[in-house]
Amino acid sequence: MQDPLLQAFVKEINEINSVVELVNLKAKYIGKKGIITERIKNLGKLPPEQRKLQGKILNGLKNFIEEALKNKEEELKQKEISEALKKELIDITLPGKDFYSGGSHPVNRTLLEIIDIFRELGFTVEEGPEVELDYYNFEALNIPKNHPARDMQDTFYISEDVVLRTHTSPVQVRVMEKKKPPLRFISPGKVYRCDSDVTHTPMFHQVEGLMVDENVSFSHLKGVLVYFLKRLFGDIPIRFRPSFFPFTEPSTEIDIGCIICSGAGCRVCKGSGWLEVLGAGMVHPNVFKFAGYPEGKYTGFAFGMGVERLTMLKYGIDDIRLFFENDIRFLRQF
Ligand SMILES: [Zn+2]
Repeated sequence: MQDPLLQAFVKEINEINSVVELVNLKAKYIGKKGIITERIKNLGKLPPEQRKLQGKILNGLKNFIEEALKNKEEELKQKEISEALKKELIDITLPGKDFYSGGSHPVNRTLLEIIDIFRELGFTVEEGPEVELDYYNFEALNIPKNHPARDMQDTFYISEDVVLRTHTSPVQVRVMEKKKPPLRFISPGKVYRCDSDVTHTPMFHQVEGLMVDENVSFSHLKGVLVYFLKRLFGDIPIRFRPSFFPFTEPSTEIDIGCIICSGAGCRVCKGSGWLEVLGAGMVHPNVFKFAGYPEGKYTGFAFGMGVERLTMLKYGIDDIRLFFENDIRFLRQF
């Protein structure tokens, strides 16, 4: 440390605080026109006996300076990193962003619940095509062409003989054509009608059910459907009203006590205190005839329900269109 040049350098490097200063210091000592560089260039002017010694000293100085600059650079880099870390410190106590997991659509939830209840009762699940022959959708269900009952449903016709099925009942006929009793199944699926308002959409879901065997009676119908409704809605009043469907005889519509007003009368039940939830009846002998079953051998009952309607009643929803708008604020409530 005797050399005054070395002493000056050490003093300067200790005062450095930035990379820019470091670059300047490097240029000053060992750059192209740096002090050490100039001295090495001038070695040739010295007498030979001094040249060797001075060369050795200058080289030692140059090495020392290079090493010191390198260390300083590393030191400055580390300092920069730790300062950046301090500045960008993450507050791990802040609450995170909300994470929403997906869920079943309310209509699907009701549908699965319906299927579960009937499975427990020994019913299987059958499916059929949504684009259906007029024959299965109407004729084989005892609704011949020009029958007034066709006006009960606003049908989408694909051609004269092909329709979008207006109910899931054609599955009854298709299954009966293939299988012999005892039969016990439900057929859930999409159906289509040319209709749209707060309680109707052109596409909606139905579940149709059928039980056929020897000696199946109206008591079976009543037992199964009362059990089903109590499972779905809890302990509510239930009543059967006579009705008409071309493919059942006798036919009935089933009401439950209004779950909105508990029977007092409200807008949803139109003041009656009752809500219609199911259509049902004993299978018409003509339907068995179309299925090719021997006359008089079997009896059975059929029933059908709208899944959207049941979902609306279950959750107190007053506009069916909400189910199909995919508004995440609506769907998240389920
Ligand atoms: Zn009511």
